[in-house]
Amino acid sequence: MKIGFIGLGIMGKPMAKNLRAAGYELLVHDIVAGPVDELVAAGAAKADSAREVAEQSDCVITMLPNSPEVEEVILGENGVLEGVRDGSIVVDMSSIAPLVSQRVGEKLKAKGAEFLDAPVSGGEPKAVDGTLAIMVGGDEAVFNKLEPILLKMGASAVLCGEIGSGNVTKLANQIVVALNISAVSEAMVLATKAGVDPEKVFNAIKGGLAGSTVMNAKMPMILDRNFNPGFRIELHIKDLQNALDTAHEIGVPVPLTGEVMEFMQALKVQGKEKNDHGGLVQFFEGLAGVEVHRKA
Ligand code: NAD
Repeated sequence: MKIGFIGLGIMGKPMAKNLRAAGYELLVHDIVAGPVDELVAAGAAKADSAREVAEQSDCVITMLPNSPEVEEVILGENGVLEGVRDGSIVVDMSSIAPLVSQRVGEKLKAKGAEFLDAPVSGGEPKAVDGTLAIMVGGDEAVFNKLEPILLKMGASAVLCGEIGSGNVTKLANQIVVALNISAVSEAMVLATKAGVDPEKVFNAIKGGLAGSTVMNAKMPMILDRNFNPGFRIELHIKDLQNALDTAHEIGVPVPLTGEVMEFMQALKVQGKEKNDHGGLVQFFEGLAGVEVHRKA
């Protein structure tokens, strides 16, 4: 099966590399040259447009920032829809609004192609390791056909329901992650101002009920003051906006999500939107006038 891959950013580049390493014939496209050249050096071919990718691939994977980019790349001029072959499968692995997934799926179906929305969780390290958690929406037969490919990029791939369900699941994931980082941040600012070494607090509680994958991933970064992304605050703002919009549209108040959104907006005003979302701790530090870091 020849795979086309569009969007070679922090996540897409290592995911595409893992497909290439697994032996798949790969055709790649991005508007930035650097990562395309890296994939070509790894044995992939390059295409000049999304349309060209679709014309030459049995399966097209997209890994783009948000709904507008996915609509542009799939539905727009010189996009996937213009070139897609009858019977081929398009898999959007970006985190976008579930309603956009449904719209894209309908348009592709009308052209005889299949569609899955398959966003991921795990961040760059798991994209590199090929151990992402993949949440999928779409038809079961299509999912079964694609599962071996998905499992070259992820440790798990779970079919959650119809098209759009993958992104509903991802919104739930992003709410839990955002609230978890906020809780860890608030707690560690308290410990620091109380004069207790936050690294000791982390080591003492990580194996108990308060421990989490989020805490294990973000606390070492916070202690090192390493806010290089990873997952940028601006992308998490995008996910929380999609969560708020979707929730309000179907009549679900999400008060905690709204509150964390404002923490992130405050950091954006301070020019920190390109920080990793572990940088959320800086909001709580600003309130208390302390900094959480490793003891010298
Ligand atoms: P990124 O900004 O690093 O990468 C996006 C890539 O898409 C870039 O290389 C960009 O040049 C390319 N692109 C944008 N518009 C394009 C177009 N019109 N045509 C072709 N290429 C185009 O973002 P990322 O961190 O890799 O995230 C991608 C998606 O994965 C997002 O939806 C994000 O929310 C989600 N995600 C990210 C992480 C993470 O930790 N970074 C984790 C899980 C999910």
